[in-house]
Amino acid sequence: MNGRKIRLLIGRMSHESNSLPDFRTDGSWFTEYRGEAVIEQAKGTGSTLGGIVKRAQAMGFETIGSIDVVAPASALVDDGYYARIRAEFAERAKRRDFDAIALDLHGAMGTDSIPDAEGDLLAALRDAVGPGIPIGVGLDLHAHLTPKMLEKAEIVIACKENPHTDTVECGEKVVELLAQILAGRLAPVSTVARVPMILMGNGDTFAGPLQQIHSLARSLAEAHCEIHDISIYNVNRFTDDFDMGQCVVVLSNGPLHQAAEIAENIAAEFWHRREEFRDLLITVDQALDLAANPRKAIPVALADMGDRVAAGAPGDSPIILKAALARPGLRGAIPITDPAAVAKARAAGVSADIVVDVGGTMTPIFDSVTVRGKVRNLSDGVFIAAGPIEGGIRNEMGDTAVLDLENGLLLLLTSRPNYAMDPQTFESQGISIAAQDFLVVKSGYHFKVNFDGLAEPLTVATPGLGYPFPGYHPGKRARFYPEHDVSEPNIKAITFTHREPQ
Ligand SMILES: [Zn+2]
Repeated sequence: MNGRKIRLLIGRMSHESNSLPDFRTDGSWFTEYRGEAVIEQAKGTGSTLGGIVKRAQAMGFETIGSIDVVAPASALVDDGYYARIRAEFAERAKRRDFDAIALDLHGAMGTDSIPDAEGDLLAALRDAVGPGIPIGVGLDLHAHLTPKMLEKAEIVIACKENPHTDTVECGEKVVELLAQILAGRLAPVSTVARVPMILMGNGDTFAGPLQQIHSLARSLAEAHCEIHDISIYNVNRFTDDFDMGQCVVVLSNGPLHQAAEIAENIAAEFWHRREEFRDLLITVDQALDLAANPRKAIPVALADMGDRVAAGAPGDSPIILKAALARPGLRGAIPITDPAAVAKARAAGVSADIVVDVGGTMTPIFDSVTVRGKVRNLSDGVFIAAGPIEGGIRNEMGDTAVLDLENGLLLLLTSRPNYAMDPQTFESQGISIAAQDFLVVKSGYHFKVNFDGLAEPLTVATPGLGYPFPGYHPGKRARFYPEHDVSEPNIKAITFTHREPQ
């Protein structure tokens, strides 16, 4: 770089799309930043973008913010909104006033017409910058990894842990690998093997088969100095695209003849162990029994698996509420997405007694429940997550209302879906976690880390659009085990190489 600072164009587009809901995620769901604000708001946050900024600044790079758009997981993204964002990214990239691009992309965003939005965005960026400028991407390990992504970007890697405790490290590694390319020390080659299956459950990397598969990958990477990364993708189960599956990608410095065999062998582990990927879920009644008679001196946090906002469900399920209403005296806090009920509570004002129908406004299989309660708190729904997962990140639940129901339950009504995976979802609304017998969360994994020591995590079998019960996937494009009739797969790796930077 002739002695001057390396200039890194930095951005993020993060949305995990669930193809099951009928509605569409439009621009109003996204939090957006542009220019310098992209860098400023990312600093110190527990995210891939936070890691990119952290490492780039530590290495003395000039960080140039481009565009940052993030929405919680939800339905497919509106075609028009995505087209505008893509055009804006491409316009910014055409200026070519930087040496490399570093992006935080989820990797499982889709629209009606584009099931692989990130691959499409990377193609637009590659067209804009030409072949000479390297592009590095940090993905979520639940990405739907596609050949287009590997073709258009030199570096495509994922975080390695679920819950995602290592997103910062993932972002840092993207920057380090880009720096090596710019220094002429890395000629990246990606070798990918795919197996057409989803994980029905047991997707935690801290135990079970995934822990062992990641440990195998680490030992194989350590055995070959040419290997700079092995990423393992557990595809978002609610994507609907061709060639969905578990993916293993070996990133080597130059071609490595063992890479195909390594990727294929790790991918084959998924197929051999496919029956092990099942969750042990408890029923709603069992969960409420444990809330009434806790095993520990802390509340229980009940993951509403069917209505997981973290998987793109709308968060409007009244199922646990209905069951808890039948158990007077149980103290619990239940979030439900319902903008109309929030509006009614706001119109009535704090301390007013209201009767209102809640829930079931977005998920077709749910009916609403009529509740009676006192409006206890109203807010704009903004809070900063405590983390550690996504710590420091601004959350926007839209206008909220907390209702004190007659039997001791607290209902947290939000205008926008929220994962409820962070203690601040509740505490920011004046709800003391310690004072509850139970909380309902809309996350299946990350809440376990964020509520550690505050509430005992339990995963509950509930219906909804956020859990893969047999027969859940319409499969307009997708074909995968166990939803579809997939014969014994022939796992064959393919390799992607890139031109040297100019
Ligand atoms: Zn994920």
